[in-house]
Amino acid sequence: MNATLADLAELRATIRDWCRAHVPADWRRAQTGVGDDEFVAFQQAWFQELRRAGYAVPHWPAEWGGGMSAAEQMVLYQELAAADAPRLVLAFVSIHHAAATLLTAGTDEQRRRHLPGILDGEIWVQGFSEPEAGSDLASLRTTARRESRAGGDVFVVNGQKLWASGAAHADWCLLLARSDPAAPKRRGISYLLMDMRSPGLDVRPIRNALGDSHFCEIFLNDVEIPAENLVGPENSGWQVAQATLAAERGMTMLELAERLGNVGLRSLVETCRRPDAAGHRPIDDTLVADRLAGFDTEIAGLRALCRDLVERHDAGTVGDASQAPPAMRRSQDRTAFGDAGQAPPAMRRSQDRTAFGDASQAPPAVRRSQDRTAFGGADASVVKVYYSELLQRMTGFGAEIAGLAAQTELSKPASSGWESGRWLLDFIGSWEWTIPGGTNEIQRTIIGERGLGLPREP
Ligand SMILES: Cc1cc2nc3c(=O)[nH]c(=O)nc-3n(C[C@H](O)[C@H](O)[C@H](O)COP(=O)(O)OP(=O)(O)OC[C@H]3O[C@@H](n4cnc5c(N)ncnc54)[C@H](O)[C@@H]3O)c2cc1C
Repeated sequence: MNATLADLAELRATIRDWCRAHVPADWRRAQTGVGDDEFVAFQQAWFQELRRAGYAVPHWPAEWGGGMSAAEQMVLYQELAAADAPRLVLAFVSIHHAAATLLTAGTDEQRRRHLPGILDGEIWVQGFSEPEAGSDLASLRTTARRESRAGGDVFVVNGQKLWASGAAHADWCLLLARSDPAAPKRRGISYLLMDMRSPGLDVRPIRNALGDSHFCEIFLNDVEIPAENLVGPENSGWQVAQATLAAERGMTMLELAERLGNVGLRSLVETCRRPDAAGHRPIDDTLVADRLAGFDTEIAGLRALCRDLVERHDAGTVGDASQAPPAMRRSQDRTAFGDAGQAPPAMRRSQDRTAFGDASQAPPAVRRSQDRTAFGGADASVVKVYYSELLQRMTGFGAEIAGLAAQTELSKPASSGWESGRWLLDFIGSWEWTIPGGTNEIQRTIIGERGLGLPREP
């Protein structure tokens, strides 16, 4: 049953009190310049703090430790953002991508094995991208050869993964690999759960423009994965991967929007209020004040877009073409998969001619997720483009106002979002948000084709 407004007000007060008591004091300063071990220990401790309160996985089903409605989650994320609580950076793939995949397409055994593990702090990484297989993910070349061994069937995996966020700390990997090289490229991929302690794995961190190494290359040399770690039917990994990709939309966007609207805007205003050596405050310049007012308005627009997406999801009308605005209805009519609107064009082509033929042929678990589409349609692409570009404009403006001083800052707090108030570093970091989960160019194609009904990309 949905919570009433009074219930939500009570929940808000409870979370606010909890935040006052539990958000670590001065964590930004304590997390600035820390090494990897300290960052991991802090993230794990914060995750367990949230878990004890029932706030770590609010989006999971109640039987697995979640059970909050979308409206309740919205209140939770608003309050965590207002209290400037640390972000769950390390557990992001575990609680969103891995959980969504297991809940949608995993077996009962896989769920029983891994969901409690995630609650206990197991870290997951997404091993999808490869050299020359990013936007065109279906071109991936890592192979998975099925073989019978004394202990049972295994997949023997060889290849290379790229840009795997958090791989250096991961216990498990969501892996896509080509299991039938003779099949059309989207029909020969299998989805595997890979233990990151398996022999034959070599994880090499990549240094990014900020000097961090949060993403990695993963080299796989004859890595053996037990056949029971296959998710969904063999060679149907492409369909299963849609559940993983859908997890990075919707509620995760709402959380990011709330953080941008709270600590992001607050620290931007603070920067603009700070007097320079001559005592001038940037905010007293009407052009600066005008920009700040503009950002405030844009954040209101972003929040409204996120709320609309999430509320329609809660009402079960995101996948219901009759309830969608006309532009979205057109897009939904044209796709076999409810959430195909979010996939890059290459993926979408495959989804329309899926290995299962159409959604009615998909395995039951995958079908259920399609019936009540996770966060589908071009509107989720609109939210992603809007958020990432607003983030760039705000952090870019912060860097402009902070001037030379911003150029001397060498590190920003770990466990924060993209809006730490170290403006130049935030600005550089903001560009990464326009790439993962489908670049903004790909998102614009989705908006054009699925939302506006423009002719398809050749
Ligand atoms: C911070 C970060 C974290 C990441 N984390 C992970 C992770 O954990 N796991 C994982 O598997 N991957 C991860 N990735 C990889 C990410 O998914 C890919 O970088 C992304 O899909 C783009 O692929 P690519 O880098 O190969 O670029 P390409 O696909 O080669 O694209 C290069 C450029 O061409 C444009 N382009 C490509 N195709 C088209 C088209 N059809 N129409 C118009 N423009 C096009 C792109 O928009 C882009 O500007 C991460 C990336 C980043 C930046």
